[in-house]
Amino acid sequence: MTLKELFDKAVLREILDGLKTTFKHLFVKPVTFQYPHEKRAIPDAHRGALCLLRYDDGAERCVGCDLCEAACPSRCIKVVSEEDPETPLRRIATEFYIDITKCVFCGFCVEACPVNALAMTKMYEYSTANKRDLMFDKPKLYQIGDQMLVDAKKYLVAHNQEENDEAAMQYRYKFPYAPAKKS
Ligand code: SF4
Ligand code: SF4
Repeated sequence: MTLKELFDKAVLREILDGLKTTFKHLFVKPVTFQYPHEKRAIPDAHRGALCLLRYDDGAERCVGCDLCEAACPSRCIKVVSEEDPETPLRRIATEFYIDITKCVFCGFCVEACPVNALAMTKMYEYSTANKRDLMFDKPKLYQIGDQMLVDAKKYLVAHNQEENDEAAMQYRYKFPYAPAKKS
């Protein structure tokens, strides 16, 4: 054993090093949150629970076209549609299901929708002990849409689907690399 090793053992060097690290972190702002008492600010582009949206007059936006169902890579959307008996040639969704347990939150369904009837929200607290609760049906999806309308609209703006101007661009994802410059 060298003299240095002997000295380190005598002064309990490893314990001192550990205490030094602990002491340094006493003055560093913690990055952790005391969830659920503290909550993060969720960005507008966040992909949380899906919802269905209405027009401002309360009419359902969804026309039952099935494009979201076709775009879904997880095959977790089911739309049943029929002609609106009160408005011939206009179709409506009579049933709408999203199995949120299979959803991978890719957002393809939202992009596929021609009338912006679907959006994602900042809602993420819907864990449950009953898996059946995670089959979101039409009333549940409209209820989330009514409850989270402001966030849903922000999502559509963030993903450039409702507007295509400077303000909307500011909400878009920041990519980890600089986009190629146009020559
Ligand atoms: S977010 Fe993706 S996986 Fe989820 S329902 Fe929409 S298309 Fe399907
Ligand atoms: S949510 Fe949009 S894409 Fe899906 S059926 Fe309704 S209108 Fe079509």
